[in-house]
Amino acid sequence: MSGIYDLIVIGGGSGGVRAARMAATYGAKVAIIEEYRYGGTCVIRGCVPKKLFVYASRFPELFETATSFGYDIKASFDWQTLLANKDKEITRLEGLYKSNLQRFNVETIEDRGIIEGPNSVRLVNGDKVLETKRILIATGGEPFKPNVEGAELGITSNEALDFKTLPKSILIEGGGYIAVEFASIFLGLGVKVSLAYRRDLVLRSFDEDIRKDLEKDLRARGLNLHYQATITELKKSSGGVTASFSNGETAEFGAVMFATGRTPNVKGLGLGKAGISLNSSGAIDVDDYAQTMCPSIYAVGDVTGRVQLTPVAIREGAAFVETIYNNNPTKIDYSLIPTAVFTDPEIGTIGLSEEEAVKTYKNIDIYIARFRPMMNTLGDKQEKMLFKLITRKNGGRVLGCHILGHGAGEMIQLVAIPMAMGASKLDFDKAIAVHPTAAEELVTFKAPSYTYENSEKKE
Ligand code: NDP
Repeated sequence: MSGIYDLIVIGGGSGGVRAARMAATYGAKVAIIEEYRYGGTCVIRGCVPKKLFVYASRFPELFETATSFGYDIKASFDWQTLLANKDKEITRLEGLYKSNLQRFNVETIEDRGIIEGPNSVRLVNGDKVLETKRILIATGGEPFKPNVEGAELGITSNEALDFKTLPKSILIEGGGYIAVEFASIFLGLGVKVSLAYRRDLVLRSFDEDIRKDLEKDLRARGLNLHYQATITELKKSSGGVTASFSNGETAEFGAVMFATGRTPNVKGLGLGKAGISLNSSGAIDVDDYAQTMCPSIYAVGDVTGRVQLTPVAIREGAAFVETIYNNNPTKIDYSLIPTAVFTDPEIGTIGLSEEEAVKTYKNIDIYIARFRPMMNTLGDKQEKMLFKLITRKNGGRVLGCHILGHGAGEMIQLVAIPMAMGASKLDFDKAIAVHPTAAEELVTFKAPSYTYENSEKKE
């Protein structure tokens, strides 16, 4: 293609691809520049391969449960087969992303794009400058490693998805999504897992009951938790890597992984040439319509450091296009974002935690159900499911829903629909239960487990 583009998107991940495709359907002349692989973090080294590993990690427990149903299963596991099949699937998806872009007449450019000014992008390898009416930055984020001696010996989630051979033991630092998900995956695959976290309960900002129950279940599965501990130094040793901790202890692990957050991918992007500065978290500030301080440049997804979730980046990309190319100013509502943590057991959550709700409302009802899922009742697995609803008083609006257990991610997606419609507890009560399911708990809660009246807890 030649001439001036309407839109150049830098970054072929979830947000960028959605925006490029949608803008093209509205008739814009669009190019998208990607320096690595189409699909971005989510498809290539995030959600998708991670979820495939989650499935792999759950089979051993399923086999164990199967014995209580009369099966006699002798299974063996081959890491190389999993890796090869995962890579094949990722390559297939990457191809689909690219061919879909081309099908919608988006020009795909494999190169590194650098901003040269408000309306120009330089291709580093192509050594030319493209002119455009608008630029969309969708470069995502990258794993952050704390600045400790020997940090280069530690891997991140990027490399954990491609271990040549599975280590016998691993230390993971962090207490967020990635730390607990990978801890759970490696536990399932038979690796000895230790987790170091600088506070005293994983998944800060999640509902405390969910955090405590998950912690208990992960411990029961063999997770070795070190709270109030950070890695201070890593050294190569005969068995792998020896870690020193802030509490003075040292220990050797087959591998060490940092899951200490992700930072916006802005290095060498040329933002200064367009007069765009970074905020205190190193992210690009945008207004409600994704516009940066340079009027012709927009940004969506992790590079803006708001909510680091694929569906949010996709929504932001779509909202940007609606605003600019369909003359329909569209803002994102960030107040009700459902999310899942693919541990085993799994978490599904939306809305306020009890701790947040108590801060916002003086009077609320809390409904809690804990029980062994039916599938475990023939064997001796003691793990319980947890369903928790947080509502305004007397059948009022549902403020939060938190689920721990098998299928929680799928369930919370469906709960997100009535909650987005502003459903009340009375609306939930109108629904007829599906029996026997675990999710029927959500529509059969009778009296609250406890309440808060004038911010005071009443059992
Ligand atoms: P998170 O921000 O969720 O967690 C980072 C963890 O690292 C926190 O526990 C944090 O502690 C700790 N930490 C941060 N800096 C340091 C440091 N210098 N030293 C020691 N510990 C530190 O990031 P993740 O890396 O887990 O995930 C990145 C993002 O990816 C998440 O925000 C999430 O939105 C997204 N994601 C979503 C998934 C999903 O939807 N299922 C799956 C995986 C990722 P503290 O709690 O004290 O801040």
